[in-house]
Amino acid sequence: MTASSPDRTLAPTDGTETFDPASVDAWAALRALGHRMLDDMLDLQSSLTHRPAWQELPPLARRLFDEPAPIDGIGADAAYALFRSHIVPYGNGNWHPRFFGWVQGQGTPLAMLAEMLAAGMNPHLAGFNQAPPLVERQVVGWLATLMGIPGAGGLLVTGGTAANTHALGVARYAAVRARGGNVRHDGLQQWPDGPTAKPLVFYGSVETHGWARKAAEWLGLGDRAFQRVPVNADYQMDLAALRRMLERDRAQGLDPFCVMGTAGTVNTGATDDLRAIAQLCREESLWFHVDGAFGALAALAPSVRDQVAGLEQADSVAFDLHKWGAMPFECACVLVRDETVNHDAFRSTATYLAETSRGVSAGGAYFADRGLDLTRGFKALKVWMQLQADGVAKLGRIIDQNVRQAREFADAVTAHASLELLAPAPLNVVCFRYRTHAVDEADLNALNEELLLRLQERGIAVPSSTRLGGRFALRLAHVNHRTTDDDMALVLSAGVEIGDELAAKQRAALPSSRGAL
Ligand SMILES: *Cc1c(COP(=O)(O)O)cnc(C)c1O
Repeated sequence: MTASSPDRTLAPTDGTETFDPASVDAWAALRALGHRMLDDMLDLQSSLTHRPAWQELPPLARRLFDEPAPIDGIGADAAYALFRSHIVPYGNGNWHPRFFGWVQGQGTPLAMLAEMLAAGMNPHLAGFNQAPPLVERQVVGWLATLMGIPGAGGLLVTGGTAANTHALGVARYAAVRARGGNVRHDGLQQWPDGPTAKPLVFYGSVETHGWARKAAEWLGLGDRAFQRVPVNADYQMDLAALRRMLERDRAQGLDPFCVMGTAGTVNTGATDDLRAIAQLCREESLWFHVDGAFGALAALAPSVRDQVAGLEQADSVAFDLHKWGAMPFECACVLVRDETVNHDAFRSTATYLAETSRGVSAGGAYFADRGLDLTRGFKALKVWMQLQADGVAKLGRIIDQNVRQAREFADAVTAHASLELLAPAPLNVVCFRYRTHAVDEADLNALNEELLLRLQERGIAVPSSTRLGGRFALRLAHVNHRTTDDDMALVLSAGVEIGDELAAKQRAALPSSRGAL
């Protein structure tokens, strides 16, 4: 067989089957379908503003998803037709210019294409002697330098939850090692022949994202080990309270090992005083971790860079690229200042992964030895391509743009007689509600919840919500590179309009059915 035999690249002729198209014509048909998919998707992406921000999947269409697995396929064209009719119109809206819910990025057209290239090439990113891991190492190196921790070790993982959990696991490993133990061998179990150890505990503010509880449970620390520190009026960790808790906990026989600061809390976008936490961690010999799921990328944006100062002193940082980094899901990065301790926490000795001095295994399973996953995809390509194409400065400008839009929105809320800002908006999260004197305080939560649902159901925009001090807040978490200033203005005016509509309806219903919207 010669490598250049043209027929072999088209289809096997020996009766064997493959998922590749089976003939020259079949390749041509798939090529045509692929071009159509690409055209359709780019058409959609370039016209989103004229489409509803969200629409619900109709019950009839839902039935498709109850059907059993096809024994014989319907063909690629028919499968794609189902995607067009039943799936693509019914996403949760996060690619839309007026989507501000939770913290979800939009993705970019170029990164979408990079995903296609990555899937097409389909390299295995455990490591190996190939170019793709060099791309990931370069991307991680770039990100470490941008975060002010050049030389940090790290890797790309699925999301902020995975990245933070990874970092807390490494912190746990380092803490046990510093106390003379080996958590990889003993776990956190009390073995009959082992020394007795005090319970390890770690600290984060009450505004810490829900990943921390999952991680505490998953890492065998237990939710009890996660000590929640109160916050000040700006939703930042109260450091005096943290010092008191550390003292109290040590006196009670607990063993503090880590403090987590948040850069950009999920509720309000607050950032803890990272410099002060870094200082405290040095004094107290504690691991300093930063959850910067979206906020860490503020380090790239001139207008808000100062807010995350101190990030560069962290022992570990976790942040998403699929939030403020605009990448399609999934993509996040974990950085560990001491690359050796990260390696020590994960290195393996499996014989089937043994490194060779030459050939495909030269260099070993670099990433599999530095994280939980063995088989890993080529997430790095989309980040690498986007940064190659557009540069770091543009990402910083877009982050600045989002912050400006969020601040202007918060100012407009403050200036508006029927709107109320419910928390400071230092970064990109705006929590607000509709309020007039005509509606009782007791009825405002229900009214604002209904306002939120109408904004979503009318396809105007997708904010999400939270509760602050018992008050229902509409919440814009703005990481949207597609949003124009006109989009922001539309959200504000539609919010007021629907609020007025609901307030009027409620007045009309008084007094018999007060509060029933
Ligand atoms: C979103 C978020 C997380 C979790 O990240 P995922 O990518 O959703 O797993 C953790 N912390 C904060 C502050 C977040 O905003």
